[in-house]
Amino acid sequence: MQIAENTVASFHYILKTPEGEVLESSREAEPMAYLHGTGGIIAGLEEEMAGKAAGDRFEATIPPEKAYGPHDPARVQQVPLEAFQGVDKVEPGMMFRASTEQGDIPVRIAAVEGDTVTVDANHQMAGQTLVFDIEITEVREATPQEMQHGHAHADGHDH
Ligand code: ZN
Repeated sequence: MQIAENTVASFHYILKTPEGEVLESSREAEPMAYLHGTGGIIAGLEEEMAGKAAGDRFEATIPPEKAYGPHDPARVQQVPLEAFQGVDKVEPGMMFRASTEQGDIPVRIAAVEGDTVTVDANHQMAGQTLVFDIEITEVREATPQEMQHGHAHADGHDH
C-alpha cells in the first residue's frame, strides 16, 4: 500500500541540519504515525511521503517555506532583564511563555547583553532548511474514527 489520502503512515526519522547535526530522532522511541493529507506533519515532508510504501528509505531536504516558515525579524524583541524577576539566571536558549495578543506563546532567549534580553518568538526551527532521513515502517488504511478525528490513533494514543 502506498501513502495517499486516508492512509496512516508510520515512520522513523532522523532530523538533521544541512551540515549534518542531528536535531531530533525517533530511533530511540516508537515510530511516528500520522494521517496523510491533514497537515499532521510539516508540508514539505508530507509532499515527499506521498506514494511511498513500507520499507522505503529516503532522504528529504525541506526548505524553510515548507517547514516552519521563514525567520520573522518582527517576532524578535528586546526586553529589560528586570522583566524576568524571579529567574536566577537568564541565559540564551532558555524557553519562557510570554503573554501576547495572540495568547501565550513560547519564546526563546536569543541573547543577554547587560540589562537587555533579546527574545525570539519564532519557532526554534524557523528559517532553517531541514534534512530528514526517513524509513517508512507501516502504511495502512485509516479507520473511520481516525478520518473523523483528522489524526492517527497510534499505540498509546488515548481519548
Ligand atoms: Zn482521535
